[in-house]
Order: sequence, then C-alpha cells, then structure tokens
Amino acid sequence: REAKNKMPTYTGLENFRLLEKMGDGAFSNVYKAVDLRTGQKVAVKVVRKYELSASQGAGEKHLNREFKKKPRVTERANILKEVQIMRGINHPSIVKLLQFFESPEHYFLVLELMEGGELFHQIVKLTYFSENLARHVIVQVAQGIRYLHEERGVVHRDIKPENLLFDRIPIVPSKIPAPKQFDEDKEDEGEFIPGVGGGGIGKVKIADFGLSKVVWDEQTMTPCGTVGYTAPEIVKDERYSKSVDMWALGCVLYTLLCGFPPFYDESINVLTEKVARGHYTFLSPWWDTISASAKDLITHLLCVDPAQRYTIDEFLAHSWVTAVPAPPDPTP
Ligand code: ADP
Ligand code: MG
Repeated sequence: REAKNKMPTYTGLENFRLLEKMGDGAFSNVYKAVDLRTGQKVAVKVVRKYELSASQGAGEKHLNREFKKKPRVTERANILKEVQIMRGINHPSIVKLLQFFESPEHYFLVLELMEGGELFHQIVKLTYFSENLARHVIVQVAQGIRYLHEERGVVHRDIKPENLLFDRIPIVPSKIPAPKQFDEDKEDEGEFIPGVGGGGIGKVKIADFGLSKVVWDEQTMTPCGTVGYTAPEIVKDERYSKSVDMWALGCVLYTLLCGFPPFYDESINVLTEKVARGHYTFLSPWWDTISASAKDLITHLLCVDPAQRYTIDEFLAHSWVTAVPAPPDPTP
C-alpha cells in the first residue's frame, strides 16, 4: 500500500496500474505496470512533453520562482521516430513496443516487460562474466543487431549495458557453469544453468531506440530502395553508420569479460582522446586468463578504421562466437 501510494498518477494512463519504477532519465520514467483491461504486466515509458523552465521575465526571476511550460519541439519528432522504428520491428532479441498513445502532457510507450532489468546491474553484481556466459549474452544481442542492420536498415546508435535488458532476474552463481548456447528456436530451453534451482540466465533484449536511425542501403546507397539524387557527403556519412553499433558491441563484450570498460578516464578530454586513438589494453592480471580468441574478436571490433571493423556477419562467423561451450563439470 505504501509503495502504491508513492506512484504518480498520469492523466491518460487510467487503464494502467503502476507497480514500481524501473528506470528514469532526464525526460522519461519507466514503470512496471498492469494493463487493467488485459491483466498483462508491461513496462510503460512515460516521456514528458514539456520541460519546466524558469520564467525569463525581467525582475520576475527574483520575486517568485514561477515556472512556465515550454514545448520541446524536437522531442516530438524524436519520440515519433523512436515509435516508428520500433513498430517495424519483430525479433526475439528486441524489446517489443505494444502500444503508443499520448496525453497533452506526456507520451506513453507500452513495452514488453523486462523483469530482469539492465545488463549493467548484472555486471556490477557479478564483477564479470565467464566466457561462456558472456557468449550467451552477446550472441543474443548480436542476433538483434543483425536483424536491425540487415533486415531493417536500422542503426541503434546507443548499444550499452543500460539499454540491454534481461527478461527475468538472472540467477548466476559465483562459480558459473557453462550455459547451453542460446538457440532462437528453443525458446525456453538452452538458457537454463544446470545446478541452479529454478534459476538460470534468461533472454537478453535490446531496448531504447531513442537514438536509432534508418540508414541507407549499403549496396545501392539509396534510402529504402528508391533511386535518389544523393549528395556524396551523405553517402560517405552513412557508409559506415552501422559500424558504430559494432564498436559498441565490442565495448560491451570487453566489459562483460573483465568487469570494466575498455575506455575510461576521470577526465572527459583524456577519455575522448583515448577513444579517438582507439587506445585500450588487455590489462593484466584481469585479461591473463581470457582466451586469445576472445581478444582477437575484440581487436576486430575496437578497430578505429570503420572500414576495417568487423560487420555483424563477420562477428557472428568468428570462431569465439561459434564455439560450443564445454559441458559443465558433472562432479559437484
Ligand atoms: P532513456 O531514453 O531514458 O535511456 P530507456 O528506454 O533506455 O530510456 O529506459 C530507461 C531505463 O528504463 C532502462 O535503462 C531500463 O532500466 C528501464 N527500462 C526501459 N524499458 C524497459 C522494459 N521494457 N522493461 C523493463 N525496464 C525497462
Ligand atoms: Mg536508455
């Protein structure tokens, strides 16, 4: 009851009961909720249409702290693009958009509920993943990216552990036995870690299409198959656009395997310089026990030249990705 009372009420969201907050950002709040008409548990992303900004009237500023509503014009175009892209998507590794509607104050995106929360929190909790567990996670993400890049012409542009969500709370022991490899066709098998009662690691899905973009076809260099009068700078700009997701995938894989990101510095300027140069290392002792094959794969992803960087197909064909994990040790 206490928690229920703390949930805000939103005009326009009367058909949903909010249960708990799952995430928040500058302009969005994500809640676990029940669709009262169907009883289905969902996630609702509530995006504010207006920002509260201090009134700029002369003198007024110091007399009272009156706030007035200021429409955010770009917000609307962005949210509609996010919705448009998500509507065209149907893949087991991508969070589904179930409904979209709006009130005068808010946009509401009703999403497939991902009870397990962010991959980010699991990395924090576990420190790092075994190679087999990392493979189990990253292959699911890669299959989602393959679908976006090759079947939808979409670049996500914001692949990171905060935007990768587990469908249920993963139960991962500190000594991690090898999970069976993810198999799209066997939805409810192959993801259970033997020896962990009722647990295992579930499905991982890509969320947050707020920065995503439909790009040009790489073969024909045309948008959506129509012959255009496209300027060369546009073609050049978009040629390697998909490779930004591959770089990000490399960063996620690196982080999964050792528990810290490939590029980090207290100073944003130093960090920017490190990224620009692609300056990272397989730091000892953390990387000493990680396979040469995993390092080889990361090297091909964290590659400064986008033309040299692995595409999603090259990623999926790499021997580290296709390796079948060894069966778990049967001795207790
Ligand atoms: P933002 O643009 O603010 O980053 P996101 O779509 O990434 O918005 O949502 C913010 C956070 O809300 C996510 O990082 C995640 O923790 C949570 N979240 C988003 N979608 C879902 C979902 N479908 N199920 C559960 N939690 C979600
Ligand atoms: Mg996000």
